[in-house]
Amino acid sequence: MSGVGVGVGGHSITQHCPYCGDDNLFPHGTRHRDWECRSCRRAFSVSFLGLLTPAGTERAP
Ligand SMILES: [Zn+2]
Repeated sequence: MSGVGVGVGGHSITQHCPYCGDDNLFPHGTRHRDWECRSCRRAFSVSFLGLLTPAGTERAP
């Protein structure tokens, strides 16, 4: 197998609330990483932690 798993790049948009699972999400405030769920009325922030390194490949220093 030599499948290539690249091509999912681009913007990462939160589509479902991590608390209630609904998709009634809207941007919250001025920071574009903040979202609010209008179903359960929670506000949360999505943080980018870094890229994952696929197993079996060389790791970045
Ligand atoms: Zn919710």
